Amino acid sequence: MADRFYCPEPAQNGRYVIEGEEARHLLRVLRLGPGDRIEIFDGQGRITPVEIKEGGRDRAVLEAVGDTREEPGASQPITLATAIPKGDRFDWLIEKTTEIGVTTLIPLITERSVVDPRASKLDRMRKRIIEAAKQCGRSRLMELAPPLTWPALLTSTSACLTCVSHPGGRAFQDWPSIESGKPLLMAVGPEGGFSDQEIELATEKGWHTVSLGSTILRVETAGLVATTLAMAHAGLAGQRSSS
Ligand code: SAH
Repeated sequence: MADRFYCPEPAQNGRYVIEGEEARHLLRVLRLGPGDRIEIFDGQGRITPVEIKEGGRDRAVLEAVGDTREEPGASQPITLATAIPKGDRFDWLIEKTTEIGVTTLIPLITERSVVDPRASKLDRMRKRIIEAAKQCGRSRLMELAPPLTWPALLTSTSACLTCVSHPGGRAFQDWPSIESGKPLLMAVGPEGGFSDQEIELATEKGWHTVSLGSTILRVETAGLVATTLAMAHAGLAGQRSSS
């Protein structure tokens, strides 16, 4: 696979421009320069092979050397709404959910949440999403949605199958069925778990409580297992879905 760089801006007069950190990675870390060929992706599924024409301090000018191709969208969009794990465990979760093809991640604020999803942290997470996408070959970025409280999530989601992972919920073989191609949403609570009231509120709204196995998983492990199982359940196992 060619080296991949994120370039959300469309070409101007046939030329693409990469600036800032992305350009420094290209020019200084990888020491690529004029004449070298790379691939750029715009985060929305478009990929273009390009040649570096000019490389300054932190600005590179690129020219297409082939047609732009488009990565297909997700065949079954999957959203993970999750309480934020502590420290760099959230970085880990962002990286892994990007790799496996989660479409959208919603930071969740629940009764027992201890980590507040601050704006600066979310900005850093957007950078992690781009880094992970570059590395894993994904060209549609995972969307990082604005944080939502539990009641707001329950009333705002348009997913067709909404599940909350909760110890003691339905075993994997009894998970509710999902129509192929319909959006799925999996919710994961904080280290202290969802409160009884939060679970009641969800079931009143038609959400299903699902189990992830007999052991208690940490928030970030639960997020990865919940989305992986949901993909397998929806018949996506083994397919590489990119958004
Ligand atoms: N003490 C808490 C556990 C919290 S673990 C409790 O008993 O609820 C953090 C979150 O991960 C949980 O809120 C749940 O969403 C998810 N989780 C962890 N282990 C799970 C399991 N075995 N089955 C379903 N969900 C689980």
